[in-house]
Amino acid sequence: MQIKTRKPDWLKIQLPNTSDYKWMHQTIRDNKLHTICTSGKCPNSAECWAAGTATFMILGDICTRACKFCNVKTGKPLAVDVKEPVRIARSIQIMKLKHAVITSVDRDDLEDGGSDIWKKTILKVKEMNPGITQEVLIPDFNGLHHLIKNIIDAGPEVISHNLETVRRITPIIRSRAKYDLSLDVLRFIADNGIVAKTGIMLGLGEKEEEVIETMQDAFSAGVKVFTIGQYLQPSKEHLPVYEYVTPEQFAKYEKIGLEMGFKYVESGPMVRSSYHAEKHINALK
Ligand code: SF4
Ligand code: SF4
Repeated sequence: MQIKTRKPDWLKIQLPNTSDYKWMHQTIRDNKLHTICTSGKCPNSAECWAAGTATFMILGDICTRACKFCNVKTGKPLAVDVKEPVRIARSIQIMKLKHAVITSVDRDDLEDGGSDIWKKTILKVKEMNPGITQEVLIPDFNGLHHLIKNIIDAGPEVISHNLETVRRITPIIRSRAKYDLSLDVLRFIADNGIVAKTGIMLGLGEKEEEVIETMQDAFSAGVKVFTIGQYLQPSKEHLPVYEYVTPEQFAKYEKIGLEMGFKYVESGPMVRSSYHAEKHINALK
């Protein structure tokens, strides 16, 4: 298969230079926080930060896994920072967010995978920001249900866990994670009455029928919200892009997903799991 090197016009991004963007950047820095917007080199940061939304990343910025598509640093993480939950909650307060999106690195080095800090963060955000809604994008916790239940019990409105790609490509691009284990995580979330959300990237060599099969697997697991975006190579060290999927093809998947029964499908070249997250929750009310 041919590797693509030149980005099409529909992937041109806005430059981040508005005063709102600079204020968000400063607030995140002052509170010594991390975001996946920056760590993941997200192409939407100019748009999202100028609109006052960001995805906070807890449990540090060093991941114990090393997925071949991901720009987050990998290695031995630093010790857990027990003051992180309050700093996250305070930043959300300062930013006056009505809907917060939080994710984390994988912490396979910790006995609880970071589940306790996750729970404390969700509870602290609620306590300091009455009326807020939260979407949390969690790791697989190696499939240990009691660790995921800890997060469910904290009561976020949406729990997201990304499949990232179709079944066949999963072992090639994801480190340690397994397709069926991720489906099990999603089923467990949905069975516990929380809105389950997942997402995949396109452009890694997947076929249309594999994308549809992945949507069907997620829908059968109880997922309500499905996101589809274009994979972009963060650096030359990461997996190459095999294809830039056209906006028309993304629209086709959105239609297929809605006909399948998902409550919300966000599908487009610039879509990331947390892109327009507030819209997803509003659509579910
Ligand atoms: Fe951050 Fe998500 Fe927006 Fe990207 S899409 S900038 S990760 S909030
Ligand atoms: Fe990136 Fe998540 Fe993989 Fe860690 S587990 S390398 S944060 S995609």
